[in-house]
Amino acid sequence: MTAEIIDGRAVAQQVREEVAKGVAELVAAGGTAPGLATVLIGDDPASEVYVRSKRRACVAAGMVDLHRHLPGDVPQHEAAALLDELAADPAVSGILLQLPTPGHLDAEALLTRIPAEKDVDGLTTANAGLLAQGRPGLRPCTPSGVIELLDRHGVPLSGAHAVVIGRSVLVGKPMAQLLLERNATVTICHSRTRDLAAECRRADVLVVAAGIPSLVGADAVKPGATVIDVGIHRGEHGLTGDVQYDAVAEVAGTITPVPGGVGPMTIAMLLANTLTAARVQQSTGRR
Ligand code: ADP
Repeated sequence: MTAEIIDGRAVAQQVREEVAKGVAELVAAGGTAPGLATVLIGDDPASEVYVRSKRRACVAAGMVDLHRHLPGDVPQHEAAALLDELAADPAVSGILLQLPTPGHLDAEALLTRIPAEKDVDGLTTANAGLLAQGRPGLRPCTPSGVIELLDRHGVPLSGAHAVVIGRSVLVGKPMAQLLLERNATVTICHSRTRDLAAECRRADVLVVAAGIPSLVGADAVKPGATVIDVGIHRGEHGLTGDVQYDAVAEVAGTITPVPGGVGPMTIAMLLANTLTAARVQQSTGRR
């Protein structure tokens, strides 16, 4: 069998066009264009690249780029003060604190300054709590991008057995909760899981977010299963994921490539969250 390949770039483009349309509609209806405040602290080159592409995507969708940059040695209280300023600014619909922050800063404490309704990364304790309780809130971008990929490829989730490898706050845990919200039967695997391959072989939908190159081979995949690879590693042969793509594509029914799978969806969902945040804020008349 050769798996159907999920084209994440195409789906991301579709989502970004829908967001751009939503922005235009909001403005046409007398609203204000959503503003995204990306906050970068320091000069980490990888973070600079990520932030630049988020800012570009934001402008392309018709949103306002409200980027802020702080020096790498900024004291905690000054970084906190900037976040407080953005939190109070009605032109700011969404705030994204680019992680990781420099080592001397307490990132957790900084995240708490972001109000839940502006937390477009879905990373604050408040939004994690809303997700855990199944209540409406802004969801983390990478796992909600995975759900979007599955939905747009017609992968059934209700009653399906979903296995998530990884339990990080950023990906694994919210991924499992989103799948549960969609009525999948969910198993979470992690570094202490006994016989990982046996657990994975039970999956109709396997989402791999362990951060380990080539962790999942064909022996861990049920024939015909859907395999979503969240991993991304830079190696001699370019970018690769947590899944042994060539071997697994022979067994799986549907698979995401790396690059061009989950990756592009993260920014698309960030834009979708920013539009949602702006709509909620403007409809409740808080701006
Ligand atoms: P990410 O941000 O991509 O989710 P992290 O590095 O923060 O990745 O977390 C890695 C996750 O993967 C952890 O939850 C860990 O338990 C899980 N993990 C690490 N190694 C293995 C392994 N060998 N088998 C299964 N899960 C693993």
